[in-house]
Amino acid sequence: MVKTRILSPKSLFDEDLVLEAFQAKGIKASSARKMWRMLIQHSDKITHYNQIPDFPKAAVKLLNEQFALTTSKVISRTDAKDGSTTKMLIELQDGQRIESVIMRYGQVELDSFPEDKQARREKRTEQGKAADGFASKSRATLCVSSQVGCAMGCTFCATGTMGLLSNLTAGEIIEQLYHANKVEKIRNVVFMGMGEPLDNYGAVLASINAMADTSRFGLSPARISVSTVGVVPRILALKNDAPNIGLALSLHAPTQPLRQQIVPTAKAWHVDRILAACDVFIENQNQKISKNRARHILVEYVLIKDVNDSVETAHDLGKLLKGRKVLLNVIPYNPTSVPYDYKTPTREGARLFAETVRGYDVHTLLRQTMGADSASACGQLVIDNGGQKGCDSNGTPGSVLVGEKVTEGRVADLEDLMTGGTPSKGTPVLKGRRTNGSRGKTNGKEVTPDPTPATGVNVDRIVTCIIAGSVALVVGRIVARYLVR
Ligand code: SF4
Repeated sequence: MVKTRILSPKSLFDEDLVLEAFQAKGIKASSARKMWRMLIQHSDKITHYNQIPDFPKAAVKLLNEQFALTTSKVISRTDAKDGSTTKMLIELQDGQRIESVIMRYGQVELDSFPEDKQARREKRTEQGKAADGFASKSRATLCVSSQVGCAMGCTFCATGTMGLLSNLTAGEIIEQLYHANKVEKIRNVVFMGMGEPLDNYGAVLASINAMADTSRFGLSPARISVSTVGVVPRILALKNDAPNIGLALSLHAPTQPLRQQIVPTAKAWHVDRILAACDVFIENQNQKISKNRARHILVEYVLIKDVNDSVETAHDLGKLLKGRKVLLNVIPYNPTSVPYDYKTPTREGARLFAETVRGYDVHTLLRQTMGADSASACGQLVIDNGGQKGCDSNGTPGSVLVGEKVTEGRVADLEDLMTGGTPSKGTPVLKGRRTNGSRGKTNGKEVTPDPTPATGVNVDRIVTCIIAGSVALVVGRIVARYLVR
C-alpha cells in the first residue's frame, strides 16, 4: 500500500478538491464548471483562470492560494522522425517522472509486402504527400500513465520490476491530457502507460469522467480504453461506473499455472474468473448496441519464445477464447531490461501461433516489429531513462500487425476495432503498426537483459513508458481500418 500523496498546491483539474474548496467558501459549483470549460475548450484564448470573464474574485483568490493551473510540467518532448509519435516526459510536483505518448495513425508499412509498400509510396508521392507521412493528426491517441511504477510485477515488463512507487491523483492523470492537447487535439485516450489502472481505481474513474464530460474534454466514452491484467472486482465495478468505455485485458497465458509465471499477481484471480468478468462487462455493453456494432474486449498476448508460444498453448488459448467477444492481439516479445532471459519468438513461430488460435474462430491479430526511432517504444523508454519503463509491453511504435490483406493508406481507431471492426470468420487479416516490440534496442545497439533483479529504484530516473498498451491499441486501430475497408 503506497502512501496517499497530498499535493500542494493542488491540481485545478481535481474535481473533488476544487468543488470541496469552492463549497467551503460559498462559491457556486457552476463557477468551477465554467472554469474547466474555458480553460479546456477555449485554451487558445484563455490560458489562465484569471482571464475568465465574470469569474468570481473569491474563486481567483482561492485558486491562487490553494491550486495550480497544472501541478506537473512537460520537461522534454521527443518526436519520432516519421511523425508517428510524440513522447512527453512529465515531471510531477514531487519530482517523480512519468511519460505520456501521443500516437498518430497514417501510412502503415508492411514489410512482408514490399511491392505494396513501394506502390503506396509512389502513389503518395504522386499526390504530393509525404511518402511515409502520418498525416491524420485529427485522430491522435494519448497513452496515459495511472501510477508511478506498478505492483503487478509482470515478468516481461520493466515497470513491473520497479514495484509501485505512487498512485497518480485524478488531477495528474487529467493534466497529461491537458498537456497533450497543447501539442494537438487528442481524440482517444488509452490507459496503457505505466501502472495498473484498476489498482488506482478512484483516480482513474474520476479522470475518465472528466475526459468524457462534455463541458470539459468531451471525449466519447468509447474513445477511452482501460487496460488491465484482470482485477476482477474492479472489472465488475467498471460495468456500472464506466459501462461504455473500452476494456483491454493483458492475458499473456491461457492457463492459470502458466499465467502465474508471467503475471505473478495472477494468483489472486483465476483466469476463468477474469474471462467471466470480461464476458459480463462486454455483454452489458452490447445489450444496448445493435448486433452488427457489437464491441469486443481487446486481449493482449505478449508472445515469449519457449515460454508461452507453443502450438499446444495456442490450442489452449483458442479453446479459452472461442465464442467470446474478444479480439486477440498477439505481440511478439522484444527484450527489455527485465531479469529474465526472455527471447523474441521467430516470425514463423508467431505466425503459426496466431494461425492456430484463428483456427478456433478467434479474431486474431499479430504484430510484427518494425524499426522505431522513437524511444516511446515500450522498453526503449526503460533504456533511455535508466532502466525503467512503462506499461503493458504491448504496443510500441515500431512494429506492425501482420495479416494477409491490406487496404491502402487507411487506418482505424481502436473503437472501430472493438466495435464491429473485427474480422469476420475467414476475413484475411491485416498488418499494421507498431508495438512495444522495439524494446531491447536503442540506436541500433542490442541491449542485454540484466541478469539480476532490479532493485532500488532511483526516482530521478523513473520514467515511464507507456506505450505498450497504447500501441496495442493503435495497432488495433490500424487493423480495424483495414478490416473495415
Ligand atoms: S505490463 Fe502493465 S500491469 Fe504488468 S507490470 Fe507492466 S505496467 Fe504493470
